[in-house]
Amino acid sequence: MGRAYSTIAFDPAKCDGCGDCMTACAQAKTGTIDRARSRIQIVGRGDTIKDATKDATEKAFELALCRQCADPKCVTVCPAGALAKDGASGVIGWDASKCVDCLLCTVGCAYGGIALEEATGHVSKCDTCDGKPACVPVCSKGALTYVTTANIYNEVGDWEDLFAPGLAGCQGCNTELLMRHTLRRVGPDTVLATPPGCVPGMGSVGFNGATGTKVPVFHPLLTNTAAMLAGVKRQFKRMGREVTALAIAGDGGASDVGFQSLSGAAERGEQMLFMVVDNEGYMNTGMQRSSCTPYGAWTSTTPIGAGCAAGQPAQGKTQDAKNLPLLMVNHRCAYVATASTAYMEDLYAKLDRAIEASKTGFAYVHVYSPCTTGWRFASDQNMEVARKAVETNFVMLWEFTPDEGLNFTRPVDDPLPVTDYLKAMGRFRHLSPAQIEHIQGKVEENIRFIKRFAAALPA
Ligand code: SF4
Repeated sequence: MGRAYSTIAFDPAKCDGCGDCMTACAQAKTGTIDRARSRIQIVGRGDTIKDATKDATEKAFELALCRQCADPKCVTVCPAGALAKDGASGVIGWDASKCVDCLLCTVGCAYGGIALEEATGHVSKCDTCDGKPACVPVCSKGALTYVTTANIYNEVGDWEDLFAPGLAGCQGCNTELLMRHTLRRVGPDTVLATPPGCVPGMGSVGFNGATGTKVPVFHPLLTNTAAMLAGVKRQFKRMGREVTALAIAGDGGASDVGFQSLSGAAERGEQMLFMVVDNEGYMNTGMQRSSCTPYGAWTSTTPIGAGCAAGQPAQGKTQDAKNLPLLMVNHRCAYVATASTAYMEDLYAKLDRAIEASKTGFAYVHVYSPCTTGWRFASDQNMEVARKAVETNFVMLWEFTPDEGLNFTRPVDDPLPVTDYLKAMGRFRHLSPAQIEHIQGKVEENIRFIKRFAAALPA
């Protein structure tokens, strides 16, 4: 896994095009105030003048700057070996002594981050001024910041991936991402239960006698996952071995036929970490609806249009989704949380707390897991869909313990309209205005309900 590096971030909604950053860069790098020689270029979008009354996404200015890419195309295309990424700082350095001025790198960069500097006749690019970029502090509008994103990877990057490479998930599968990170964090002293669903379907329990995991794994029924795992955990305790008993189950297996077993284990306080990968349906077996499928969604058993029975409205699922994590709060589990792979540091923090809680009681983590195949969106939009779910409050991120009550870990006080989330997926494309209004109303009702519920819980 790669490392996280610092980089210069740009907020176009704050930039007024003053150009102070370019002047500062030119002074620092060339000793002149010639903005044409600046490594950072703020580029106007035609004659557009920023208008505060317009949508902030309507950018007046854009950034041309080296992003110090993880997989830099400029380095790949350079035939002279003049560009190289430094493993310690993450900065892509340019070696003038090797450069032959072919300018291929300027074509290879999608960000305009390396360009010909006419005054010298050579290319030039940002080197972040050794981690103290001159452009950032002079930006009085706060449009430039020097940030380190995904810090978590510097910590967890060296931990072992306990799933085999090359699992048979769909392209861009969020569930594969989630289970790799989860097992990486839970570690090798784990016994894993994966009931029928996408997780075993992509090979966690293996094919032809070989498992896809590097920890002991078994394949319970949809109906008895928590019960079987409880027995396995108890047997390990009798043998004097401390292991984390981990289930990675789908929402179908947990919220429908598996709920009796899940509820019983939670009520007894069995020592385990039960993770639900909520892709809102039985996606592995043909995209059937589950009780976690949201209202209005197309699935193969909640059809629209010609797929509906005669006389049926063409509208997808007609019931609202079951709120499984809130049901688990009502079991007074040792720990309950909702999480999203779009907020990985939040997810890792919750895994830490869940692992600890599972040593003495029942820990439950419910992760919203967009399904590129069943939800009908391009696989490269996975994180965007996951992020929009949270930004609209369609999904809320919180955690609960009996001592601390229920607390939001990433509150969204000014949510986007739910249409921003719905329009990202084909499964909602058919919705009528009345259905969208219903979903928006449900989102608002849910947040009010959970806030009232949280306030009523002991803290
Ligand atoms: S201009 Fe220099 S750095 Fe760019 S591709 Fe050519 S040789 Fe490499």
